Amino acid sequence: MVVKIEHDRDTCISCGACVNLCPDNWEMADDGKSRCKNASPADLGCNQEAADACPVQCIKVVTE
Ligand code: SF4
Repeated sequence: MVVKIEHDRDTCISCGACVNLCPDNWEMADDGKSRCKNASPADLGCNQEAADACPVQCIKVVTE
């Protein structure tokens, strides 16, 4: 399975939910918005939880 993570940073409201739920692959960047550490992770990990928790749905997890 190939995992791709798309993050629309323009929409991110800096709530921190993704970082709290999935610190393995999400961190807060210097501009106050979150940042995906690896957009093509080897497995899904906690990224779906991060996407599901995002209040503005700006994280998309695509699996192929
Ligand atoms: S959960 Fe969504 S809005 Fe909140 S910091 Fe993460 S990407 Fe941004």
